[in-house]
Amino acid sequence: MFDKFRDECGVFGIFGHPESANLTYLGLYALQHRGQESAGIAAADGTRIRTSRAMGYVNDAFSSDTLAGLTGHLAVGHVRYSTAGESRLANAQPIVIDSAHGQLALGHNGNLINAGEVHDALVREGAIFQTSTDSEIVVHLFARSKADNVESAIVEAIGQVRGAYSFVLMTKDRIIGVRDPHGFRPLALGRLGDAWVICSETCAMDLIGATYVRDVEPGEMVVASATGLRSVKPFPPAKHSQCIFEHVYFSRPDSYVFGESVNEVRTEFGRRLARESGVPADVVVPIPDSGVCAAVGFAEQSGIPMRMGLIRNHYVGRTFIQPQQSIRHFGVRVKLNPVKSILNGKRVVLVDDSIVRGTTSRKIVRMVRSAGAREVHMRISCPPTISPCFYGVDTPRRSELIAATHTLDEIRSYLNADSVAYLSLDGLTESVPSGKSRYCTSCYTGVYPVAFPRDEAAYLQLALKLNPEPATPSTPQPATMDGFDGDESGSALSSLAGVGSSRDGRRTD
Ligand code: SF4
Repeated sequence: MFDKFRDECGVFGIFGHPESANLTYLGLYALQHRGQESAGIAAADGTRIRTSRAMGYVNDAFSSDTLAGLTGHLAVGHVRYSTAGESRLANAQPIVIDSAHGQLALGHNGNLINAGEVHDALVREGAIFQTSTDSEIVVHLFARSKADNVESAIVEAIGQVRGAYSFVLMTKDRIIGVRDPHGFRPLALGRLGDAWVICSETCAMDLIGATYVRDVEPGEMVVASATGLRSVKPFPPAKHSQCIFEHVYFSRPDSYVFGESVNEVRTEFGRRLARESGVPADVVVPIPDSGVCAAVGFAEQSGIPMRMGLIRNHYVGRTFIQPQQSIRHFGVRVKLNPVKSILNGKRVVLVDDSIVRGTTSRKIVRMVRSAGAREVHMRISCPPTISPCFYGVDTPRRSELIAATHTLDEIRSYLNADSVAYLSLDGLTESVPSGKSRYCTSCYTGVYPVAFPRDEAAYLQLALKLNPEPATPSTPQPATMDGFDGDESGSALSSLAGVGSSRDGRRTD
């Protein structure tokens, strides 16, 4: 609902526990921030796979009866935000197929860069696709493999795709985690008693009482079965390109991602930002929730007290009904409210993790001024976002990224702030151990570690972000009279309102 890059997907898998489906349900609960459009669980008992998928939040997607039907000691789950493919039940994951190699369930976090090319080749050979996701090509490649065992067929299939992927897969008797050789998206390995757990973020392990063991390494495939855990590295190594935006915004601060505490990294971003772009002020105010860790670091480094001068309404959900045009000028106020006693008469440093279009930031600055702030200084705990992502993150067109088309002073003027400063690229990468050599920073540099041809980007419905744009204003439009544009909140709420009832959409295979 804020002006942010959108999360990707979350994956979870467990082997060796009699309550595998219930634990997967809890794991998906912890990963809900990574995708809210659909959720699914597939469970197996050594003989067959059963699946349930539905649109909506995890809470809505499963009933106790549904979970009771997902019997067995192994399970995989998925929460989805559609970075490739439409938002509909057919695209929900895990995808489950029957093949000559037996049943396979697959959950995917990431984007496959050569999906268009592989998809077209498969269609020419007679493949019939059931979904519009890039993930489905992997199960087609698996089903066509002539390999003499399941794991070889999986390796052969995944070896034909390029791009970003953290997969959890399940056959009737084992779960498999695979991370692409660049390691774009996270995948962690843990233990719960004798059971093995594989998931996107460690916060999912915390909820079920599992212990983090290590990350699945880039290019590694781990297999948990009755014979224990095996690790193979069947893919050619590549330069590591872990998504630094996981630390900036996506991941929960209570997670360890890429082996680092997100909270510690995010707080260090704030400390570094204060060293680079300190400003005399009376109070540091985070834009909740995503700006909180960096604001803590900024306040700690600068010695300026941090106060919660903006309060977030956590209960604005997808059921919020879009008001009529005539009364919807409250815009961002439905999500955030200023605390006048903290802001009135003060020089305020507002700290946020990122600015995408700038629309929400502008409204927040106006709101803070209307609460009596004497000065408003915007500090952003990552560099200017100038390029779209092609590795599993939903980003707007390049022309909609305010930092891609405007100077720092133009951004300051648009936001109506007294000053604006971003964390430098060096500041970002030096705040993470091995940040320069192990991380992707493409959305800040426009330099991409995995090349993609334009026709493939078109297949992924991302070409609009590269091709010439439809006519758009070269500078952001002025706000309406009360300072709240209305369009941003309206469009966001409209799109959320379009998500159908999850219970109506439930399907059990
Ligand atoms: S382009 Fe940005 S969001 Fe995408 S993987 Fe790289 S760092 Fe992450």
